[in-house]
Amino acid sequence: MARTDTPNRIRGTQDIVGEDERRFARVVDAFDHVRRLYCFDRLELPVFEATAVFARSLGETTDVVSKEMYTFDDRGGDSVTLRPEFTAGIARAFITNGWQQHAPMKLATHGPVFRYERPQKGRYRQFHQIDAEIIGAAEPAADVELLTLADQLLNELGIAEGVTLQLNTLGDPHSREGWRLALIEHFANHQLDLSEESRVRLETNPLRILDSKSPQDQQIVAEAPGIDEFLTRFSRDYFEAVTGGLDAAGVAWTRNARLVRGLDYYRHTAFEFVTDRLGAQGTVIAGGRYDGLIESLGGNPTPGVGWAAGIERLAMLLDEPAAKSVDAVVVPLGEAAATRAQGILAQLRRAGLAVDMAFKGNMKKRMAKADALRARYAVILGDDEIASGEAGVKNLATGEQQPVALDALAETLSAA
Ligand code: ATP
Ligand code: MG
Repeated sequence: MARTDTPNRIRGTQDIVGEDERRFARVVDAFDHVRRLYCFDRLELPVFEATAVFARSLGETTDVVSKEMYTFDDRGGDSVTLRPEFTAGIARAFITNGWQQHAPMKLATHGPVFRYERPQKGRYRQFHQIDAEIIGAAEPAADVELLTLADQLLNELGIAEGVTLQLNTLGDPHSREGWRLALIEHFANHQLDLSEESRVRLETNPLRILDSKSPQDQQIVAEAPGIDEFLTRFSRDYFEAVTGGLDAAGVAWTRNARLVRGLDYYRHTAFEFVTDRLGAQGTVIAGGRYDGLIESLGGNPTPGVGWAAGIERLAMLLDEPAAKSVDAVVVPLGEAAATRAQGILAQLRRAGLAVDMAFKGNMKKRMAKADALRARYAVILGDDEIASGEAGVKNLATGEQQPVALDALAETLSAA
């Protein structure tokens, strides 16, 4: 029992172990596998940045910047922020390091991100994202490649069924501005019926009203104009190239003409992979094209497109992953055997086998540990066995036991 003055875990953070950790690791492993197939380079970034990196690229009126960031002054008096997402930091790194010469760059990363939100299932204050970005490619083929990567990841995780790709375009700045004005007019006409939060958004960030989760707003949102009639010829062609590419790649999608992304920097393609299996936390992967971002941070105009996914949300969708797999458990009986077992353990592990030792309690307890670890074999080592230079190798699935020479153990267990 913890004493009452023992510090607690911070609200909204997690200690991840056991089954949850195996799910988490499976998501990360699958992502790392797939990003290699798509020739994305791995990138490691700082966990915190100058506050301006996020404030300027995400926009002051977004939820993330206005109420979710962990921002503080460091001991030198500089304002720093724990990253609430990856894209802005990647854009900053692109500018800082002068990576234009390498463009287009295909980059992948994962790690913790921080947002001050109300914690609930699938929503944490420190959570984890996988993230994939293509910087310096303006072609719709880049959007298609990223979406196909996401689709393949969901398939490799075995969770594609029940997850839908919702796709929209926000057009170029001209299209988006026309749509924005039409939305302002529509929402202003219904101002008195809107939720309080949406009335505030009407002044600050009217597109975001489309994102409202308030039941009061749903009817008004459903009747809001879609973007189609405001799309320029160029924007329309761009979107058709994306959807045509997805069809060619065999990636299923549905159109959601009212989908917007919370952040200001999106252009053209915007998308979310959503499921109804996680309640209100149903968005598992989200992203889009952010051609205006790098310029807004002071870099040369550079197009970009990317997505991020919550590792915890993907992990919750997985079937229970297989328990850890252990090749063998060494069970020494007696002191001489315990010492000898150290050598055998080292030898088996050096040979590439996953091996643990059961050295506590009576024989029954030790064999129970071998079962609990779901080991394939128990290697039983007593005084008799040491004298004869053999161990008893028990196949835990069949219960069969046979003697195996100590120096042939690695070979026998590897072959089996
Ligand atoms: P939501 O609408 O659920 O708040 P968002 O639009 O804020 O999501 P993004 O900024 O697009 O989310 O982040 C990408 C992904 O990160 C989300 O689709 C989700 O899977 C995950 N995510 C976002 N916020 C959290 C959180 N607080 N806890 C766990 N996962 C999160
Ligand atoms: Mg959010």
